Amino acid sequence: MMYLHIASGRNYERFNETNMFVEYAKQNGFPFVKLDALEDYSYSKKLIELWNKDDIMIIEEDKVPTLDILHELEICHHPFCSQSYIVTFKVGDGIKTYSAGGWNRVSSGVGSFYHIPWCFTNYPDKTKIFTDTTDLGLVKISKSLQEKIKLQVCKFDVQQFRISEELTRLGVKVHIHLPTIKHNHIINLTEYPHYINMVNYDQNKM
Ligand SMILES: [Zn+2]
Repeated sequence: MMYLHIASGRNYERFNETNMFVEYAKQNGFPFVKLDALEDYSYSKKLIELWNKDDIMIIEEDKVPTLDILHELEICHHPFCSQSYIVTFKVGDGIKTYSAGGWNRVSSGVGSFYHIPWCFTNYPDKTKIFTDTTDLGLVKISKSLQEKIKLQVCKFDVQQFRISEELTRLGVKVHIHLPTIKHNHIINLTEYPHYINMVNYDQNKM
């Protein structure tokens, strides 16, 4: 297993908790290598460099798991595992909170699709949750699956959609792990416009 810590290269206070956790994990048998993703393409370049060599675990800059959670991801036999995490959107004067770590494709009705966050309340048995895709907040990707996925140099926010398309092409589902972990990010939709569909989708329809 290779362990990759994606950091932004910025010293935002909200990243401190993940930085501290990763240091603690390194002292306890999870030898994470840190990538300071200082330019748009460095994340995908690093993944391409590591791809097809071994199973890989990725933790991104603001996710806060536990050692037990890392261990469960590591020993799980499914090829692509993703830890559920909190997604908080700033919407007007308020906030909306979701569980993510897995998204499902929903038809928009005109032949195209968008992704909605997976909602854990529908699935009390955590061992049986599979979604169409995920982003890479905290994931484990097996070498055997990497061999079937072709990566390209691209911006970090395009990367997850490319991987998503590859999973759809292969018919591979993402295994979701609970519990939902902390994510130190309140997402402003002007910053991440591609999340707008997640917010607009009525969770009650899921
Ligand atoms: Zn799993």
